[in-house]
Parts: sequence; C-alpha cells; structure tokens
Amino acid sequence: MVRIGVHCPVDKSLSSVIDWTKQIQANTTQYFFQNPRTTIPRKVSNTEWIAFNQQLQTEQITPVFIHAPYVVNMCSTNEKIREKSQQVIQHLLVQIDSSENTYLVTHIGYHGGEGFEAGLNRFYKGIGIIQESVSLQKLIIENAAGQTNAMGVSFEELDRLLEPFPEMGICIDTAHLWGFGLSPGDRQVRKKMTQWQTDSRLKLIHLNNAKDELGSKKDHHAKLNDGKIPEHVMKSFAKDFQNIPFILETPKNSLEEDAEQIRIIKRWIGITSW
Ligand SMILES: [Zn+2]
Repeated sequence: MVRIGVHCPVDKSLSSVIDWTKQIQANTTQYFFQNPRTTIPRKVSNTEWIAFNQQLQTEQITPVFIHAPYVVNMCSTNEKIREKSQQVIQHLLVQIDSSENTYLVTHIGYHGGEGFEAGLNRFYKGIGIIQESVSLQKLIIENAAGQTNAMGVSFEELDRLLEPFPEMGICIDTAHLWGFGLSPGDRQVRKKMTQWQTDSRLKLIHLNNAKDELGSKKDHHAKLNDGKIPEHVMKSFAKDFQNIPFILETPKNSLEEDAEQIRIIKRWIGITSW
C-alpha cells in the first residue's frame, strides 16, 4: 500500500499529530518529538506514549517517523556538541525502541571545515557508542544539499557513512538532491535509489520540490507543484518509488494546504481511494 504523509506540527499533546494526519487524508506521518532547536527531550508520560502509539495503530497510521532536532551534529569538531548529539539520538532511539514501525530520521551534521574524512571518523565513533546500548535498526540518516561543510551529500559519501552499520537506513530528500546538483529524474539517481531499495536501505523519501536552482547548495523546500524541479519529474519519481513511504516537508500556512499536496500525489500516482 502506498504510504503518504507530511511533517506535522505538534502542540502540547502528541495526539495532535494524529488529528492532522487524519484530516489531510494521509496514512503515515513525521513529527518533531521535541523543540527542533534544542537538545532538551520532551517530557512524555508512559501513559501518554502508550495511548499515542495505540491510537496510531487503531488509525492505521504507519510507519511513523520522528525527525531529530536540527541541532544534532554527529560530526562536529566540538566534543560537547558531539556528546549532546549522541545523547539525543540515543534517547530518541530508546524512546521508540518498543513502538511498532516507528523510526528516527536525522541529518548527519557538518565537519566544521576539517573535511569529509575527519567528519566520517567522528560519525563512526559516535554511532559506535550509540550502538553499544541500543539497536540502530530504527535509525535513518538523510542526505544533505551540499551546504558548507555538510556531510552526506553525494551517493559515495552516503554509502561510506552507512557502510559499517548494516542495520541503519537512508532517507533521500528530493529537494536536497536537487540542491546538490542531481535531478530526481537522472538515470544515475534512479539506479542508485533502486539499488538502495533492493538492499532494504531506503526507508523513507522526503518528497519536496526545491525553491532554488539545480546545484544551488541550498535546502529550501517548495510545494510539489510550485518549485524548480519540473512537475513531470516529480510525478514520474513519485510513481517509480511509490513503495517507499513519502513524507512531505513542503511549506504551509494551513492544514488545507497539506491536504491539497496529498491530493496532488494521489493524483500523480493514480490513487482514487485508500
Ligand atoms: Zn528532509
């Protein structure tokens, strides 16, 4: 079954994620477990967490993705930032450990000007420490658009980041690919993504259009039908990878705007009802 959802806003109660998802007629979801600008974990009682997970199951909203805070940087030159980042990832992985079909997606980080190899070693070390206490099966890393010092931009970089951790998954953001300089319509993109799909690495697609030109090295998202990636490219990409969950992180001011984006993908793929 095709799985489509959006990054949902969360208010005081986690159940707001479920309300939003239902109202836009989506069947998978993503949200921030905590304020994305801090490393302070959200306080959720056991009772609330269990009730939330049960409600997700009842509503058949699956899989569920938690997006790690933006401040996570596993590759930082600053030891304190690395430690904090490890703690956040570890804490979230423990939180979701017993929740069915719930995953954590995180940006990889920045090497601080010391180069990819230096950042890679720090990433390996940090993930190695996390792995000692919790499984990496629910951890997904996301490609970056090529902003200054960003890690995990090219396919080669992503493969190297994944290499020692066979359980870890990957999320490809179409707007970030475009920012880096690759169109989602390129043959090499399709080939690589199909290979990741075959290897069960590809767990999630952030289906976003891009606000800036191809190769801009920027990661600003646009609505599916209102960005620099031609609509026919987005459409054929969505059709080809419809077996992978899609999460939209497109700009919005209202619930209706999300609902409209969901309708667009359904139209592209040819879904008339769930
Ligand atoms: Zn994304």
